[in-house]
Amino acid sequence: MELTSWGRHPRIAASSSSFETEGELLRTLEKGGDIIARGLGRSYGDSALNSNVISTARFNKILAFDPSNGLVVCESGVTLAELIEIFLKRGWFLSITPGTRLITVGGAIASDVHGKNHHTAGCFSECVEWFELMLPDKSIVRCSREENRELFLATCGGMGLTGIILTAAIRLKRVNSAYIRETVIRCNNLSEIFHLFDVYQATTYSVAWIDCAASGKRLGRSVLMAGEHAEAGKLNIPLPRTLSVPFDLPSFCLNKYSVSIFNRLYFNTSPSHIKDRLVLLEPFFYPLDKIGNWNRIYGKKGFTQYQPVIPRESAYEALKEILNRIAKQGLGSFLAVLKLFGPENENFISFPMGGYTLALDFKIEPRLFPFLDELDRIVIDFGGRVYLTKDVRMSKEVFRKGYPGWEQFAEIREKYKMKGKFESLQSKRLEV
Ligand SMILES: Cc1cc2nc3c(=O)[nH]c(=O)nc-3n(C[C@H](O)[C@H](O)[C@H](O)COP(=O)(O)OP(=O)(O)OC[C@H]3O[C@@H](n4cnc5c(N)ncnc54)[C@H](O)[C@@H]3O)c2cc1C
Repeated sequence: MELTSWGRHPRIAASSSSFETEGELLRTLEKGGDIIARGLGRSYGDSALNSNVISTARFNKILAFDPSNGLVVCESGVTLAELIEIFLKRGWFLSITPGTRLITVGGAIASDVHGKNHHTAGCFSECVEWFELMLPDKSIVRCSREENRELFLATCGGMGLTGIILTAAIRLKRVNSAYIRETVIRCNNLSEIFHLFDVYQATTYSVAWIDCAASGKRLGRSVLMAGEHAEAGKLNIPLPRTLSVPFDLPSFCLNKYSVSIFNRLYFNTSPSHIKDRLVLLEPFFYPLDKIGNWNRIYGKKGFTQYQPVIPRESAYEALKEILNRIAKQGLGSFLAVLKLFGPENENFISFPMGGYTLALDFKIEPRLFPFLDELDRIVIDFGGRVYLTKDVRMSKEVFRKGYPGWEQFAEIREKYKMKGKFESLQSKRLEV
C-alpha cells in the first residue's frame, strides 16, 4: 500500500499490519526485518514511515479508570478524541494535549507532545505514570520514573525507536466545565508579543498566532490567546460537526500574495483586546480538527511543518532573523504559531526546552529544503533544535547538535538491540 503521514510527503510503498493482542504483535515481530509503530499518522514527516509498519489502530481498549485520581489505563491505540468523548462529561480532561485530538496515546508518548500549557505543565510524559514496552527480544517491561527509568526516558520522545508501547497509565485532570475563559490580545510586533507572554506566564494556557508575512516595523505582529478552564458550566457538549476539504487545491493557490492577504485579514479581523470570553474547549484546543483533510490545501506535493525552539535568552534575535528571512523569501505559511515553553525535562530526546518555539507550514517546492537548511543553521547557532515529529529533512549533524541527549539515546538503542529492529525513514536518515 501507499503510505504517507500528515504532510503527505514522502509517499512510500509499505506493508502495514495491525494487532489486537500481544500474541498477534509477537507473531508479526517474529517475521523479522525492521519495523516502526504507527498511530494515526498525524506526525508530519517520516517518523512513522518505513517499508514495514505496525499500526496500533486495533489495539485500542480502555482497561481501567480510577475516579479518585483520574488515572486511566488504556492500550496505546486509544485516541485522545476517545478519551475526551468518554471522560469530559464526567469532569475529566487531558492534562496535556497538542493542537489535535486525532492522535493516539502511543503517538503522544513517543513524540512527548506538548500543548498550550507547556510553560505550566510540561510535556505529555508528565501525565504518564507508567507504560509497558515490547522490546526487540519480545519481552514486555513496565517503564516508569522508578522502574526501568532509562527506558522511560528514552521512550518518551523516542519516536518509536525503543519498541512498541503497549498499555499506558495516564493521569487526567479534573475540570468543572467544557468551557474556557479566553483572553485575546492583538500586538504589533515581536517585542510586544514577547512582553505579553511574560505577562501571561501564570495563565494555564497561552499561544500566539504570528503573521509570518509581515516585515519591517510589523515584524512578528501576533494575536495572543490565553485561557483558563471555566469554573462552572456544562460538561456534556456534543462534538462539533467537521467539514472536509474534498480535493487537493492546485498548489499555485498558495503563493506569497495569498499568504500575505490571508495573514493581513486574520490579523485585522482579530479582536484587539477581549478579556475572559467563554469559548468551548474543542475550538480553543483543536481549531483545525473542524476541517477534515485540511492538509489537502497544500496541493498534491504535500507540505512540511518547520518547528524550531530557541533558548529564551537568544530567542528574540534568532526569531527576528528567521522571520525576516521567511518574509523576504515569500515562502510563508497561513498558519504560524509562537509559544513560550517552560523548562526542558530529563527525557533523552524530547523536543521542548525553556524558550520560544515557532511552527510554520510550507508547501513542498524545490527551493524549500535548501532554505530550511539555512534556517537550521540559525537555530543551531542560537542553541536551539528542530522538532522530530514534524521533521522530514533534517541532517544528522543538525540533529546531533540540537539534541545533546542523542548519545545516551543511541547507547540505549545499542544496549537493547533496538537498532536494526525498530527503524523509521527518519531514524535511518539521522543514523541514530
Ligand atoms: C493539526 C495538528 C496539530 C498538532 N499540534 C501539535 C502540538 O500542538 N504539539 C505537539 O507536540 N504535536 C502536535 N502535533 C503533532 C502530533 O501530536 C504528533 O505527531 C503525534 O505523535 C501524532 O500521533 P499519532 O498517533 O498520529 O502517531 P504517528 O504520527 O502515527 O507516529 C508518531 C510517532 O510515534 C510513534 N508511535 C506511535 N505509536 C506508537 C506506539 N504504540 N509505540 C511506539 N511508538 C509509537 C511512531 O513510531 C512515530 O515515531 C500536531 C499534529 C497535527 C496534525
